[in-house]
Amino acid sequence: MNQRYWSSRIQGLVPYTPGEQPKDRTFIKLNTNENPYPPSPRVLEAIRREADQRLRLYPDPESAALRGALAEHYGVEPEQVFCGNGSDEVLGLCFYALFSPGRKVVFPDITYSFYPVYTELFGLDYEEIPLNEDFTLPVERFLRGNGGAVICNPNAPTGRALPLSDIRRIVEDNPAAAVLVDEAYADFGAQSAVELIDQYPNLLVVRTMSKSRSLAGMRIGYALGSQDLIDGVNCVKNSFNSYPLDRLAQAAGEAAVRDTAYFEETRGKIMATRTWVTHRLREMGFQVHDSSSNFLFIAHPDHSGRVLQQGLRDRGVLVRRFERPRIQDHLRVSIGTDEEMEAMCRAMEEILKGQ
Ligand SMILES: *Cc1c(COP(=O)(O)O)cnc(C)c1O
Repeated sequence: MNQRYWSSRIQGLVPYTPGEQPKDRTFIKLNTNENPYPPSPRVLEAIRREADQRLRLYPDPESAALRGALAEHYGVEPEQVFCGNGSDEVLGLCFYALFSPGRKVVFPDITYSFYPVYTELFGLDYEEIPLNEDFTLPVERFLRGNGGAVICNPNAPTGRALPLSDIRRIVEDNPAAAVLVDEAYADFGAQSAVELIDQYPNLLVVRTMSKSRSLAGMRIGYALGSQDLIDGVNCVKNSFNSYPLDRLAQAAGEAAVRDTAYFEETRGKIMATRTWVTHRLREMGFQVHDSSSNFLFIAHPDHSGRVLQQGLRDRGVLVRRFERPRIQDHLRVSIGTDEEMEAMCRAMEEILKGQ
């Protein structure tokens, strides 16, 4: 690639690769952890109500109504809430605002692959701490004063959750720097660290409406933490884009947070589906990690990840695989509807039988 006019800052930068969004044929899409259920009907109503001539006006740069709804939902102050255009953007702003060049940021070797991209982009030093063989987190290795830590809980792509007591230890033992806890999947079964933010001024919890609120297409992410951390993130946001959330997204997000009944119903269905699919795959001989998220991380002792992924694709099912040494034979399979998961299981049985 000709990079002649590129800034020296991005020469050699390897960007994040998002999961495939196919345009050609209708696959069963179990590759990007989207929610199989539609957003709450109240969200669609709120968007329709908002879609009028007011779109000529800029949106509220502070997303005040949405932040108010989130503050109420989590029992915190609006000043402890930040909203951004998807949690990927929120994470990026946080890395820039809260970590300093020359001070090493730590995160696991197997985790959300966007983290090393942010550190590279922003010129931050970092160390990837290897997870244990069973993909549990070696908590002791995150307990030394350093330049900050990023913990995805439950972790992606393993689906494993850390107990809140471990998060607390990590936050307590890194008092000199921010600890980011990415809770993109926490609504599917992990203990949230939000209840700790009043106790620890260095703890920032980052969340998204893309997965548990079925709103990946609206791009709504948020962070909860001490006012000091939130002010820092706002300082960077206002130096980059004052209006990260448009009018429709702010209205949609507020309606989503307020529809607790729908949220409970859909996440309950996903967790129930996850339970039977876990058993079914284990019966087929798969190693399936207990998941606290809306996906399963699976491997088969007799079949390579590449062959299984291609076999599923040939049968119309997309799943995600990461070309990294320790996990290349694992597949990350999003939890879809019962019908979609039945089709995935049948396709997998065919592949294992060599049909
Ligand atoms: C999906 C995901 C995000 C990003 O979510 P968006 O709000 O859609 O940008 C962040 N972190 C993890 C671990 C994710 O899986």
